Amino acid sequence: MIDFHCHLDLYPEALRLLPEVSRRNLFTLVVSTSPRAWQATSRVFAGYDNVRVALGLHPEIFEKKQSERELLLENVRNTQFIGEVGLDGSRRFVGTLELQERLLDEVLAECAVHGGKFISLHSRGAATRVLDLIESHRDCGVPVLHWFSGTPKELRRAVDLGCWFSVGPAMVQAEKGRRLFAEMPLNRVLPETDGPFAARNGIPWMPWEAISISDAASELFGRSADDVARTFEDNLRRVLKHSEKPLDFMRAQESAQRDLPF
Ligand SMILES: [Zn+2]
Repeated sequence: MIDFHCHLDLYPEALRLLPEVSRRNLFTLVVSTSPRAWQATSRVFAGYDNVRVALGLHPEIFEKKQSERELLLENVRNTQFIGEVGLDGSRRFVGTLELQERLLDEVLAECAVHGGKFISLHSRGAATRVLDLIESHRDCGVPVLHWFSGTPKELRRAVDLGCWFSVGPAMVQAEKGRRLFAEMPLNRVLPETDGPFAARNGIPWMPWEAISISDAASELFGRSADDVARTFEDNLRRVLKHSEKPLDFMRAQESAQRDLPF
């Protein structure tokens, strides 16, 4: 099981959940909402090889956290995982969109300077602008568009640009999300929850429930749920193959794995 985008630090009793998440999931990417939160969470979540904390500055709190811009940029070199970063062009945040854009431009440039990173990206209401920036920083690493909600045309452009996608149970419950999911190349999709923000009947999805998208994938792609789950694991290994520090679970299974093209 994989959760490539969750806010584990924001669950009630996160520290109690942490060992369970590590045990139940093959890999979990904990995205942070600000560089200070990244520092604190990295400290308290240390010691779990398969739970990684990504350095981020969430576009929804960009205005409040602008003072952490330097901290964000200067730490890009210190981590392989960036997120949650991106743009939010929805009505509430459109006022800061240009400033958000300037920051994302700087973050992606920094990612490119430091050899490329895994970047979990928010793009609500601003998919074209996010894709424009990815296009102008082709060496930024692996952009993973989280909960993509753009148009089918924007999706095709993202695929052409080499983007990956993280898809969660909340996304596939909605008709629009299912339609977009069906158009994604399954070999570039990773499960996510976006919990605790994403919830079902008020109860946050747990990081080990991201895999429940296998049922929707099975239906949309005409493959068995087991086959889909295996594809997600292959995807994870393939995408992380180029990480500076291979994860323990990858080393252990390396010999059994065929060499997949990046
Ligand atoms: Zn998120």
